Amino acid sequence: MIELSHIEKKFGDHTVLHDVSVSFAEGSVTALIGPSGGGKSTLLRCINLLEIPTSGRVRIGDEAIDFRPGVKVRWASIQKLRRQTGMVFQNFQLFPHRTAIDNVSEALTTVLKWPREKAQQRARELLDKVGLAHKADAWPSTLSGGQQQRVAIARALAPSPKVLLCDEPTSALDPELAGEVVEVLAQLAREGTTMVIATHDLRLASTIAQEAIFLDAGVVVEQGPARHIFTNPQRQRTQRFIATLT
Ligand code: ATP
Ligand code: MG
Repeated sequence: MIELSHIEKKFGDHTVLHDVSVSFAEGSVTALIGPSGGGKSTLLRCINLLEIPTSGRVRIGDEAIDFRPGVKVRWASIQKLRRQTGMVFQNFQLFPHRTAIDNVSEALTTVLKWPREKAQQRARELLDKVGLAHKADAWPSTLSGGQQQRVAIARALAPSPKVLLCDEPTSALDPELAGEVVEVLAQLAREGTTMVIATHDLRLASTIAQEAIFLDAGVVVEQGPARHIFTNPQRQRTQRFIATLT
């Protein structure tokens, strides 16, 4: 279980998340939707602590941290929580000077200190899972966008995180390549991977998410079963937004 309680995030005087309390059950897939600037990326980054919440509590499994304005949290605690998460970005962010397999095994050898052989074996299994076993030795620049994103997914999964956070994983891809990525994420969903996916892609969201959260101007306007939010939203603000997607 992942739980954010009363999260507030300010950049200077600008509050971009207002008292956000949401939870994600183990094995669930949640779509995070809402207008540009609404705070989706910031919320994801507050889960893996790439952004430090101004106040509130983040819990992942048995690990929790309370944030208070002006109180510094130990770096080791942040690292520990962050390691429970894997993140996939819109623009892939692979290491350009490492092959696909080395991108996937990197964190295992450098952070977790796995022996190289074991790390490479795990990386091969993950590349196989995303349909790229044959591209293990390829350089990122020689891969299509869809392939690069699948390597990035394998890399995020390598340390067996408790949750996979995806920030618009298909929005840099044309529809066909986006489809490859949706298929991989759908397979992970069927296997019970806990995922939180910020997306404008209604196909992605409605294919794999059971839960949805509509975030507007840093406020959770509506949350619940995805099919409900997409087809029968209760709030006018959500209705207007969903209409722009379809
Ligand atoms: P999009 O759909 O365009 O990706 P989003 O919902 O992901 O939007 P965020 O990127 O989380 O929105 O941004 C929320 C608000 O926080 C915006 O007003 C943005 O300008 C602001 N913001 C985000 N990161 C920073 C930062 N590092 N410093 C200052 N302001 C920031
Ligand atoms: Mg964003």
